[in-house]
Amino acid sequence: MTIKNYINGNFHNPIQENWLDNYNPSNGEVYGQIPNSSNEDVENAYIAAKSAFPSWSQISIEERSRILIKISELLEANLDRFAAAESKDNGKPISLAKAVDIPRAASNFRFFGNAITQFASESHESVGLQAVNYTLRQPIGVVGCISPWNLPLYLFTWKIAPAIAAGNCVVAKPSEVTPMTAYLLGEICNEAGLPKGVLNIVHGLGTTTGQAIIEHEDIKAISFTGGTATGAHIAKVAAPMFKKLSLELGGKNPNIIFADCDYEDMLDTTVRSSFANQGQICLCGSRIFVEASIYEKFKVDFVERIKALKVGHPAEASTNIGALVSKSHLKKVKEFIEIAKTENGTILCGGNEVTIKDFENGYYLEPTVIEVPTNECRVNQEEIFGPVVTIMPFLTEDEVLQMANKVKYGLSATLWTNNLKRTMRMSNQLQTGIVWINTWMLRDLRTPFGGMKASGVGREGGFEALRFFTEAKNVCIKY
Ligand code: NAD
Repeated sequence: MTIKNYINGNFHNPIQENWLDNYNPSNGEVYGQIPNSSNEDVENAYIAAKSAFPSWSQISIEERSRILIKISELLEANLDRFAAAESKDNGKPISLAKAVDIPRAASNFRFFGNAITQFASESHESVGLQAVNYTLRQPIGVVGCISPWNLPLYLFTWKIAPAIAAGNCVVAKPSEVTPMTAYLLGEICNEAGLPKGVLNIVHGLGTTTGQAIIEHEDIKAISFTGGTATGAHIAKVAAPMFKKLSLELGGKNPNIIFADCDYEDMLDTTVRSSFANQGQICLCGSRIFVEASIYEKFKVDFVERIKALKVGHPAEASTNIGALVSKSHLKKVKEFIEIAKTENGTILCGGNEVTIKDFENGYYLEPTVIEVPTNECRVNQEEIFGPVVTIMPFLTEDEVLQMANKVKYGLSATLWTNNLKRTMRMSNQLQTGIVWINTWMLRDLRTPFGGMKASGVGREGGFEALRFFTEAKNVCIKY
């Protein structure tokens, strides 16, 4: 299957006819080609976006909202097709793509289609000065959106929907590892009546296509989700051009379990927060800290639950753990398991590749639980981003708070306790952009989403995203 760039409402081969292989992680086979777009392709996407901007930024909010909600409805109507494509491209269980990824992509368009109708600007009567001030929230113009491979359509649309809702036109690049559903989105946008050029999708490597987007002088804002090192590089390139930046980066999230929690609820959720999407979610609780008094019991119960998870072909309904996204990623995750052994970590379960009959070349790995001697070890400090979690005990609230915060990342934290005062104390002090208490990944799209420290800059979600994709202009009238 050959994927093409979506520019000005049409599908195009890359100008230089450079192509990349697209792999199916479930069997390791090449099943398609994708463009490795050059500066010229990005320039064409930019020109289309620039031409579409005057009219898109001026059409009524109701009309913009209507089109976004239409895209959402069409995604819902095409759920099966999109879920199958996402699962094949990424290796995630089809059940997950169907229940989470594609519905969430549809919700992103519906949510921002509605949110834009409520996005009011402030005004201030300057009492005593005979003046009134009001704030205009104007779209930026052409903006760039760059997304990763782990939740392909979910995160791609989480950027595109607010960008176009706010009246911008977009040059977007999905991950070269998982381009398929972004490609299919083009058709849906045409069917929904999105005017040509409002959304342009260019495919290719980060170092060629992505680099051309971030270096483009007239793409005035970049919304990026991906690795911390890439985020740092983008910030460096963008700073001299004073681009607006939103960076959603890596995580190494603590999952803190106190003895007074609802144990069964905690256990169920911890299985999910550790291994959903093969552990390839930036929000996964990859460092589990358990209060010493229940540590041994938790260890036994958790390992038993993890051993019962089924690693299998992503298209099978009974599969809990599908394939990792790529061969190179599988290698990286396995290297971390070896590092853990050299650091006196104990592999409590997993650690090995899995061979699935008829799909022997797929990228399958057992869900792996490592007991670590200290929070300072590399597997507790570096992002692994795979089906690997660490566990260790703690004695006091102060001790676990210190360990939770002693890491360069600051994306999310989960806390399991029924002690209200502790909940309040700890959520105030945890250095993360999101704190979940007695739950995980419960998302309300109105809330600010993002990380502190090396997990990023800026917030997505709700009006935060609409603020990012607009320039605030103060108008002061003296009367
Ligand atoms: P990555 O940084 O390698 O790539 C992300 C995107 O950036 C891809 O589209 C890639 O092609 C592009 N890119 C790479 N180099 C570029 C460059 N020089 N210029 C412009 N674009 C470039 O990340 P990945 O491996 O695709 O994704 C995994 C990472 O994403 C993990 O670190 C994970 O924690 C993070 N992530 C963060 C969040 C969040 O919300 N904070 C969500 C999901 C994933």
